[in-house]
Amino acid sequence: MPAFSTVMWVLGAVVLFFFLWFVGTGMLRSTTTPLPPPPPEGELRKVNLRYRCSICGVEMRLTMATAEDPAPPRHCGDDMDLTAPIYE
Ligand SMILES: [Zn+2]
Repeated sequence: MPAFSTVMWVLGAVVLFFFLWFVGTGMLRSTTTPLPPPPPEGELRKVNLRYRCSICGVEMRLTMATAEDPAPPRHCGDDMDLTAPIYE
């Protein structure tokens, strides 16, 4: 049975490691893949598109997008399938 202080040191080192790792990868990600800037006012269009995840089967409806034919959202790490475009 290791001493309590030894356990605390190890735990502290592990927590510090993960903290630095998260901060490091987060900074890397923010520099390599910058988020697109928010669209200017009035650029959003009303759409009515339904997408289904081919992996887990979840469906979602897209009601607002910057284009009439936006890129499909991703779920389960893959692009969702467009199931029913409804034009109003
Ligand atoms: Zn999914």
